Amino acid sequence: MNNQVDSKSEVNALSQYTVIMVDDELNILQTLKRCFSREKFRVICANSGAEGLKLVADTANVAVIVSDQRMPGMNGSEFLTRSREFAPDAIRMLLTGYSDIETTVAAMNEGGATHYIGKPWEETMLLQTVGGCVMQYHLNMENRRQQEIINQQNAELRELLSQRTQQNCKLEQMASTDALTGLTNRRRFLESLENERSRTERNGGALSLIMFDIDHFKKVNDTWGHAVGDKVLCEIAREMQLFLRKADSAARYGGEEFVILLPETELPGAALIANRLRQMVADTVITQDQGPPVAVTISIGIASLELDESGEKLLIRADQAMYRAKNNGRNRMELAS
Ligand code: GH3
Ligand code: MG
Ligand code: MG
Repeated sequence: MNNQVDSKSEVNALSQYTVIMVDDELNILQTLKRCFSREKFRVICANSGAEGLKLVADTANVAVIVSDQRMPGMNGSEFLTRSREFAPDAIRMLLTGYSDIETTVAAMNEGGATHYIGKPWEETMLLQTVGGCVMQYHLNMENRRQQEIINQQNAELRELLSQRTQQNCKLEQMASTDALTGLTNRRRFLESLENERSRTERNGGALSLIMFDIDHFKKVNDTWGHAVGDKVLCEIAREMQLFLRKADSAARYGGEEFVILLPETELPGAALIANRLRQMVADTVITQDQGPPVAVTISIGIASLELDESGEKLLIRADQAMYRAKNNGRNRMELAS
């Protein structure tokens, strides 16, 4: 084995690569070819820059390009520069007879060469340098391939994460929404109530709660069927949402029972809203495909948060007020005591 390489598989991997050598002197090319005849990688030669460019353009996996500097027509630097168009990643090397270092460095810079070997060369040194460059190219390509795999995996992970986040949002949304009406459900409402209650406790101000229940709703179901009952629930939920202020949050509390949380609202303000809501429901007519339009009324209880009161207690007082509204004739509202 001529080159220092780590493993058999890497040596075998080198067989896929080609080294292109360009020199205007045929005997030099012949010597070079002979010198590299036992290497794993392929070596092909051209005796001018123009011919070299054609080879670079037509050959796959060009790992290293070695060029003489002084050649008629196109010199080595120009050839190496132009070869970049076809093999941008190949490692470029100048094989030059220039004895002064400055001219050599200038030629290397112009041609984008990273290595140079002086003529006359020492054979072992040349073999090792070119072999090392082929291995370097191989490792560069392997790194790039690995990086592409990692990038791809990262992109897939990002996509998966974004899907998961969306799914979680959707699940969270489903878990806090009433499927029939699209309103907030009881669970989420109780969370909001607790948040608003502690915020009010901290900052002062008012918090009111409206609770209402559809009157004789069982009769709607019994007379017109459950589907019509559902339509009534949805229609009331829809109208209520159009009617409420942004800060107010409505929820379906139970079967035909709804609640509305009114932050920054005193009892008289809440009563005003409740009465308009009662009127709005009474005026709403729900059409059905077969049968006459259906109208319902609601009974409302209203309570405002008292000092050091729990959310549970507030709900109980609103509920009690609502039952008073039922007992006092329905289609009306009562304030909690
Ligand atoms: P009240 O005026 O005293 O409130 O009488 P009500 O008939 O409204 O009260 P009741 O508690 O006797 O009946 C409530 C009905 O609401 C019974 C139940 O089947 C119905 N209900 C509850 N949830 C739904 C629902 O999601 N869809 C439909 N269509 N009906 C429902
Ligand atoms: Mg009812
Ligand atoms: Mg009820």
